[in-house]
Formats: sequence, C-alpha cells, structure tokens
Amino acid sequence: MRLSISFFTVILFSFVLISSCSSKEDETTDTIGQTPQPDPVEFTLTVSAGEGGTVSTSGGTFEQGSEISITATPNQGFIFNGWEGINLSGSSITVTLNSNLNIVANFSQINTTDINNDPSIFNYDINYDYAEQIVDFYPNAFYASDLSENVINGINLALKTAADAFGKYGPVEYWVFGVDKQAALDLISDFCERREALSQWNLDDCLERETDETIDHSMIAYQKIGENVLSSNQPQMGAGHNGGFHWGIHKLSSSYPFTFDSLFEGIPPQDDFKTVFHEYFHVFQLASVFNLDDEERDNRTKPNEAIWMMEGGAEYMANYTLFHLIDSGTLTFETSYGTLREKMRNKMEYGKFFIEENCPESILNQFSYQACSQAGYELGSWGVAYLIDKVNNPNILLETFYPNLKELGFESSFNLTFGYSTEEFYEDFDAFLELPIEEQLEIIPDI
Ligand SMILES: [Zn+2]
Repeated sequence: MRLSISFFTVILFSFVLISSCSSKEDETTDTIGQTPQPDPVEFTLTVSAGEGGTVSTSGGTFEQGSEISITATPNQGFIFNGWEGINLSGSSITVTLNSNLNIVANFSQINTTDINNDPSIFNYDINYDYAEQIVDFYPNAFYASDLSENVINGINLALKTAADAFGKYGPVEYWVFGVDKQAALDLISDFCERREALSQWNLDDCLERETDETIDHSMIAYQKIGENVLSSNQPQMGAGHNGGFHWGIHKLSSSYPFTFDSLFEGIPPQDDFKTVFHEYFHVFQLASVFNLDDEERDNRTKPNEAIWMMEGGAEYMANYTLFHLIDSGTLTFETSYGTLREKMRNKMEYGKFFIEENCPESILNQFSYQACSQAGYELGSWGVAYLIDKVNNPNILLETFYPNLKELGFESSFNLTFGYSTEEFYEDFDAFLELPIEEQLEIIPDI
C-alpha cells in the first residue's frame, strides 16, 4: 500500500513536471496565426546602501515600467545624504524602471563639531522638522570663492561660538559674499541648486530673484555692498536673517566680512564677530516662534512695536556675549576691543543724538523699522540692558522671555519674565534715559 501511493505520487509529480515544462511551448504554439506578443522586457534594479544606513530593498528583476518604492534609513548618528545613480531626492523614492539601474543610498555621519562649508552636503536630515529644537549640528556657512581663508576661518569660528552661546537651532545656512560678481553668482547658483534639490524652490525662479540687484535683501545685493567697500574705500557692512521658515531653515546672508582681511585700520575682527552674534541671536529669537505662520510670528515677536527688543536684544546680547567671552579667555584677539561700557556709552550718545535729529518726541516703543529704526537698535540695546539688570540675570532672554513667547505672547511673557507690564517699563526707562551717563553705565557689567 505504501509503495503504491509512492509510486502514484511519483507518476503524478512527473506529470506536473512535464506539464509545467511544456506550458511555455504551448503558449508559443497558441500564438501561431495571431499577432505575436513580444516577451515583456525586463530590467534589473540593484539597490545598495553606503556606510551608515540601510535600504528597504536590494532590488531584483522587474518588467519595464514597474514602479518600485525604496526607502533609505540612516543608522543612529548618521543622516541620509542623497542617491547615487538616479536623479531623485528624498529618502523615500519611487523608481520607474526603464533601464537597468544601480542605485546607492549615501549616508554621512552627523557632523556635530564643524561648520559645514560644502553647499552640496546636507548635514541634517532633510525630512525632519527641527522647529524650536536645539539640534546636534552646527550651522552651515557657504562662501563665495573670492573670500580668503582668514574670512572663512573667522566666520566659521564666530558662528560656532554663537551656536555654543545661544544654542544650535534648526538648519542654519549662512551665505557669505565677497566683492567679485561672478563668484557671487556662482554662490547664488549653489544656493538655488540646494533649494531645487530639496524641492523647495524652482531653480529659475530662485535665480531670478536672488540675482536681481533691485530687490531688497536679494543675495546679489550683499555682493554689491562688498564691491562698494572696495570702490569707495569706505567701510560698510550688511547682514540679515532673511527667513527660510517655509523651508524649515534659517537663511542668512552677509556682505564681505572685511575685518578678517584687516582692510581698514582701527576696525578689528571683533566687529564681524559681533555681527555674526547679532544675526545668530535672531536665529534664536525666531526659532522660538519657528513653525508659526508669518502673521502669528510677528504677533509674538512684535518686530514693529518692539524693534527695541528684536534689534536691541540682538545688539545687546551680541555685544555682551562677545565681551564676556573675551573676558573669560574663550576668545582671544590680537587687538583690544575696549570695554562693553565704552560700546554702550557710544550707543547712548548716538541713540540720543539720532532721536533729537529725527524723532524727538518718540519713546522706546515708537521706534520701528520704518521710523527711527537706528534708535531702536541703539537705545533698544539699552532697554534690554536695563531689563537684564532689573532681574540680575544676563541670560534672562535665553532662559525665560523667548522660551515662553510662543505660548504666552509678547505681553504675558514680558510680565512673567520681568515682573511688570511693558507700559510700566516704558515709563521707567524714559526716566532712566534722563540720568547722567555715568549713572546709566553702572548697570552695564564691567567687562
Ligand atoms: Zn538685526
């Protein structure tokens, strides 16, 4: 009985084998007399992962036109850094197979110790929303090719120092222009290619805007400033936080930081450090309201009713931090930069002179970007110094005011931080402005 079953099984199995072997021939025979159907074209897809990550598939052989989804996943401490062998971006892609393809997912170690200077490298996970978080990586700084090593090293160090002082917020891109127009156009191309690679902005639209000298804060306008410095032999500097919120980044631009090349006697590199600290403080301020829309952000930071806090805060914190780091030996420079009190004395004198000339009746909260803005910077920095002295904590903006701004709004966060209303503060500060300068300077740290 056992034998016969086995025998039967063998026969059955043989039959299946024969029948399956002949099925292909049968198909071919069937097509005689009809339009011949060509065999479907097949292609091979090979997917592999470079060091630091894995891919969801290793590929295989597929019919022409097949759509295959692939996801690249970085290991801990690595980030996905683009595909090799195919012109698609993002860590999850769908490939339509119309030829043999060999694709490699590239990863790189998250760079936590250096400022990335290569515009083709993304030192962060492009698919992750870093809003409002202190993140591992330092800012990116990208340079026009005509800038010297001194400039590159100087700005890199200033940015790294600022990030250590104020926190490493969100992807920061700091684009630095020199004096040469072609070098600036090349850097703008890098900027626009970066936007296109991340599907953030169309290359042509980006180039059109950023190379238009007539547009305020276009990138080429920063090159123009540096060009004017050379042609007029007059020091002039421009830098700004130009947004980037809708791309999840902080976009900043800077004109030629000429102090690192010792272009003018008496204007030392500390000036450019101060500028970087000022701009980077804006990164911190705006990171605190990062993923809100334009109107909601303005509603919290009040750039117009409180330019004194926006610009005065950046200006005072930049100066204070610079002098503090020099005083503690963290930063050393060849030439002296004087003292914080000397800087603040100048700000008081210039601010008062400026309002007497331009807006004599105005008080702190009436300065805006449109009216008397310079007084907002100079006297605003005194307003912030006054508040810091009141609570006796130089880090109060970093620790309390900005971290509560999104949740509470300007007035309530101000109340919580400083223990009274802005109205009371404006009154107090108005009286403070009437004091003799020596008395005013007593609230400024002796550094
Ligand atoms: Zn500013």
